[in-house]
Amino acid sequence: MHLIEIYKSLQGESSFAGLPCVFVRLAGCNLRCAWCDSEYTFKGGYRMSEDEVVAEVERLSPLPHPADGAPDVGHRSSLQPLVEITGGEPMLQERELISLMRRLLTLGYRLLLETSGERPLEFVPAEVHKIVDVKCPGSGEHLRFRSENLATLTARDELKFVLAGRDDYDYAREFIRSRLSGSPVQIILSPAFRKDAVGIRSAENCLLDPRLLAEWMLADNLPARLGLQIHKFIWEPQLKGV
Ligand code: SF4
Repeated sequence: MHLIEIYKSLQGESSFAGLPCVFVRLAGCNLRCAWCDSEYTFKGGYRMSEDEVVAEVERLSPLPHPADGAPDVGHRSSLQPLVEITGGEPMLQERELISLMRRLLTLGYRLLLETSGERPLEFVPAEVHKIVDVKCPGSGEHLRFRSENLATLTARDELKFVLAGRDDYDYAREFIRSRLSGSPVQIILSPAFRKDAVGIRSAENCLLDPRLLAEWMLADNLPARLGLQIHKFIWEPQLKGV
């Protein structure tokens, strides 16, 4: 596998935000979103075998002793250590990744997969919580969404719209109303962060004011969650590995 980094931090996004999590960040991406904060994944990195990745995950986040309570994949037990597979676009390494995911699930980890939604997702194990982007026009990549992926989503999964302004919000609202009616998937709207943000930890680093987004969502009664990248408010926004 071709990786950029493995590290432990707090989960910054999704409905798992705030929980300790090991991040396995894979190298490479086939998209070029205008506000991408992970451009350092496009080149470089290093190779690791599946055994080496599993060993590093176990070192950073040992599984609880059976006496502490067996992991239960049916609910969000905080005893079940969290691992997020991210990138770049991790599904570009699908064959190796699916084998790794199966192994981590068997060991007892709860798995999140963060993906752009451009690659096919039908072979991702059902126990994995998929967090799938729907790219909006402000990203420049909104035509790349793979519609067939909608059929793979369950109540375990999340669809995330990253918004850079009102046009993106209108796009997301139309998508939700016309294509997600009756879908069990959880929906997240998240303001895009300035990729050149440095120093201060502030909502002013968002391309779209979170308060404005909250007001639009409330006015439209959208069945969605407002998501902030909380790691960029806890640590300085330019920091990597947090
Ligand atoms: S899909 Fe993700 S990693 Fe790839 S360009 Fe877009 S934001 Fe960056």
